[in-house]
Parts: sequence; structure tokens; C-alpha cells
Amino acid sequence: MTVAAIASNTEAGVLIASHLATARPLPKKVCTITGGGTFSPNIAIPQKNRGGDRGVTLVPILKMWLPRFRSSVCFSLKDTVSLFAASVSLKRYSCYLGEFHSPKGYDTGITVYNSAANKKVPLVLKYKGIATWYMCGPTVYDDTHIGHACCYTKFDIIRRILEKVFGIKVLLLMGITDVDDKIIKKAQESGLSISEVARKYELDFFKGMAAMRVMTPSSVTRVTENIPHIISFCESLIEKDFAYVTSEGNVYFKVDKGVSAEVLNELPEETEINIDPLKKDRRDFALWKVAKEDEPYWISPWGRGRPGWHIECSVMASKIFGCHLDLHSGGYDLLFPHHSNEKSQSEAYHSCPQWGNYWLHSGLLQVGNEVKMSKSIKNTVSIKEFLKEHSANDFRILCLQSPYRKNILYCPETLAGAKGLYQKFHNFINEMELYSNGEMALPLFDEDKLLSRLQSTEEQVISLLADDFNTSQAILSLTNLIDSVNESLQSSNPSSVFKNGVTAVSACASYIDRMLETLGVNIMCKKKLSKGFVHFMDAVNEFRSKIRLFALQQVEISMYDYQNFISRNQLAVAERERNKEVLLLGECDDLILIELERPEDTLECRREAWQLLGYEDRVDDARDKTPDDLRS
Ligand SMILES: [Zn+2]
Repeated sequence: MTVAAIASNTEAGVLIASHLATARPLPKKVCTITGGGTFSPNIAIPQKNRGGDRGVTLVPILKMWLPRFRSSVCFSLKDTVSLFAASVSLKRYSCYLGEFHSPKGYDTGITVYNSAANKKVPLVLKYKGIATWYMCGPTVYDDTHIGHACCYTKFDIIRRILEKVFGIKVLLLMGITDVDDKIIKKAQESGLSISEVARKYELDFFKGMAAMRVMTPSSVTRVTENIPHIISFCESLIEKDFAYVTSEGNVYFKVDKGVSAEVLNELPEETEINIDPLKKDRRDFALWKVAKEDEPYWISPWGRGRPGWHIECSVMASKIFGCHLDLHSGGYDLLFPHHSNEKSQSEAYHSCPQWGNYWLHSGLLQVGNEVKMSKSIKNTVSIKEFLKEHSANDFRILCLQSPYRKNILYCPETLAGAKGLYQKFHNFINEMELYSNGEMALPLFDEDKLLSRLQSTEEQVISLLADDFNTSQAILSLTNLIDSVNESLQSSNPSSVFKNGVTAVSACASYIDRMLETLGVNIMCKKKLSKGFVHFMDAVNEFRSKIRLFALQQVEISMYDYQNFISRNQLAVAERERNKEVLLLGECDDLILIELERPEDTLECRREAWQLLGYEDRVDDARDKTPDDLRS
């Protein structure tokens, strides 16, 4: 299918135009349209300023975006259209964050795409070398899935880049929503209390994040720990006339006071059917909600109730960081209304023109035709399920392969691409290790040329990461360096100018390994295995070859031959019953009791060995026992 084919379809144009005008998820229908005809429809993209609407032809937009998506993880045109539409809706919502004022402070030399500015701007921090960062955490009511992992892995990569590449100390605060409609529903269904549900799934979340190698936040705070602060925050907003209480005890934020008239005109009205008739403006949002029957509540000056969603994050972030915040982040589905409301009420509370300076939004994990992976759409894959077949490294490479702001298409093709790339890095580093150790002979090649290639790659990667954390291009630079090393090795020439370039090869491999480690990708290779673990591997290999040989010879084997063959355990074997099956079991015992439980090996070595052999039940049991202990 070509660009012209879909662009020429009138229906596609109409549907996308409707999506752009309403900023709602693209209907499934668009993704299944095939081409026909020659008509190029005009679609209108709503502008930030009213009256500025202009017609934009679909064809040039698609042509502009196609190479960007194609170069990352997108394979088909229908996916391209869908990802494109999602990114347009991000731009549309950005205007609700108001205007961006360049902050004063320390210029990091990094540029970031700030949703509040709707463009890339220099990252200027209030304090030199320190970044304060609030991140919206999960609502804890169900198993953590890879849609969550996508968002938090992307921001983990950014955090690692800030800390490890640019030397900035990141103070990351995560707020957990531990009371909410979904949690209440789950508690009613499961018979657990609300706090039991919340703690259970919060634990699941952090376990999942650890499994995906996402670093833990510097600090974690929960809504239920902050109720008195939320109440006093609301009181202050009422006092400043930014909020009002209804006769029923609901507290609403006056949206017309919190945003400019320009933005106000753009704000969509509340579309819920059961809208509170006591609201002064349909666009006002709840700060405090009256508790319904059978709902948890806290006593407030306005009666029994619980906090609204947006106020939680404002309070949790303000409690720790006060009136100044460098970075604020979340998936782009949080941009509107969650983040725009959060920003309005925080700026009103602190009486400041700009509370959070940089608003970062990550793309979502897209499954098939759905714009996101979500419990409500029932298309989730839990982290546990994912890790049965794939690794955290595979997932992280998938995240690194596309710009963090773009959606990732989750499908067998994109996963296979990520796995293939991981394997390429893995094979390269292991192979270079053989050259460095002298286990493989290096051909003669132009070492100086390769060293200068390494230097230019290092410079290029730094500037790419400083450009809105462009990991997709940085990863490409690393693979290009691998190609350069391979080309050098193949261009071997017995010329006197050429050298046996161990230095260059080792430097390239070590740089790539270090860079991947920085980004959170762990390349498992021989050199990283502990001495004890290598011993285990040798023992298991030896065992395997013995069993294989035994199987090949068993028809003819005599007891005498077998005893000679396993001379090391001759005595032990001779004492056992003269039965082939028992002999094999005996070998297994020896492997387990003698080789894998050697008292001189560390507990960690034993655990690694049992894990690798698939004896999970033994992992926790692998204490410092002697073979005699184990036999008894
Ligand atoms: Zn939030």
C-alpha cells in the first residue's frame, strides 16, 4: 500500500479529521481502510489560537512523518497513520498547559521537548547539578502490565542519562494513587480492604519494575498518607477564591480563574451524563468529592469525603518540592486533563506563574489497532507473562529503539527486532572479549582509523542524548560502530602500516558495553561471570558429556569400563548397586552434592547455578551446607 492509496480515501480523511477535531482516540475503522480513487482530502487541525484554523493536506503530513515512524518500530502504513494521529493529539492537548517561561538557573546543555512549550527548549535547572522530578505513579488495583513498564522504562532511561551521562543528581518523587474508584471496586469484589488491595498491587508494581530493571524512585508517597495536606490545600484554594464548596459538600476548582481566556475557550466541556448540577461551570473539576455510601471517607470541613484525582499529585509534589519543580512526567494520556488541571491548581495555590518547568510525556505501548495497552480495553500483558518468554533487556531495547515521546507498536515483529538487536550487541561484546583475551587471533588492520571512529561515535552519542534523549539514533550509532569494527577486521591486510589492533577492538567493545549498561541494558557475557559460576558451568558441561558418552556406549558398556571412565568417583560408584540406572542417578548426585554444593563457593554462585539449571526450589535452599550436611 502506498501513501497515495490511503490519502486518496475520502473516508480516511474524514475520520482522521474528526479525530483531530475532537482529540479522541482514532476509531478502529481508520486502521482497516484500504485505498482507492485519486482524491486528496483536506483536513483541519485545530490551532492553539481560535480563528487560526487552516486546511492541511493529509499527503504532505504523512510523507513528513512516515520516514520517522518507519525508521523506528513501525512497519505498516495503518500503524503509521494510527501512531501519527496519537502524536497529533499530544500536540493538541499541549495548549492546555498554558505558556512556558524560560526558567533562570543552570543550563545543562541538554534540550528537552517540553509539552508546556510545545517544542524543544534548553533544560535549565534551578540548582546546579540537581534535578527535582515528580512522576505520576500508578493507581494500584491490578497486576502491573508492560504498558506501565513502557512508560516507566522510558523515564528510567532518561533518568539514567541525566545521572550517568550528564552527572545530574535526580531527586525523583513518585506519587501512588492508593484510593480511587477502581481500587474501591476491586476491594468490594475481592473481599479485601482498600488498603490491602492497594498494598498488594503496589508491591506487585515495584516487583515488576525491579524485574524490568527500572530504578526505584528516590522517594515514594501515597495519597492516603497525605489527606490532611490535601484538605489544607483545598482550604487555601477556597480562601484565594480559586475554588468553591457546593451545598452537598463537593469542592470544585474554578476553571475560569486558573487558565487564560484563550485556553478556556479551547477546553472541552464535561461530557459525563451524570454531571453535578451544582457545578458553576461544566468545565470545573473536583478537588474533594462527597463520599457515596459504602465508600471510604475522611472527615473534612465539608463533610465526609475523599480527594479528587488531580489534587493528589499537586499536593504530594508540593509537599516535598514546594513551589518549584524542575521536571514533571507521565504518559501522554495524562496530559489532559490530569496534568493541565494539576498545573492550574498548583500555580493558583503557590501564587506563581510557573510551578513545574518541564512537562515530559512518554508515548504509549500500542497493541494492534488500540492506541494503548490498558486494563479497561482488556488487552494487557502482565510483566510476569512477558518475562516467561522474553527478557527485560529485550523490552528495554524495544524502548530505546524509538524516541521516548513516540508510541511503541507491540507485536511479534517489533519484539523480534529488539531481540535481534540485543543479540547483535551480545555477540559482538563476547566475540571481542575472545580477541582481547588472546583466545582468538586478531588480523592486522588500520587501528588508528578505528580509534578515531570510536571517538567520533562517542561525541555523536553525547550530542544525540543531549538532544531530547534521542536514544533511537544513539543506538544506531552504536550499531554503526559495530559494523565499523567488523569492516576493519574484514579489511585485514598484511601491510606494515596495519597493526594487531587489540587496543582499538577492546576500547570499542568496552565503550558499547558501558553505554548499554548506562542505558540499563545488561549484556551477559563470559567476563562478567563469577569464578565460582564458571566452575559450575564447567562441572555441568563435564557431566553432560559423560552422560552423552554413557548413552552412546551403554549397549556395550561393562561395569568395569564405566568405573574407569568416571575414575574420579570410582570408589563411590563401586559401592553403589550394579545397575546402569542407578549409576546415572549416582552421577547426578555427585554433580549436585559435590560439584554444585561445594562449601568453598559463595551462596551467590550456588544460587546462580541452581537458577540456570531451572531448580528454582533449590535457589533459596542453597545455603552454606557441606556435602555431608546434604547427604544426611
Ligand atoms: Zn499525577
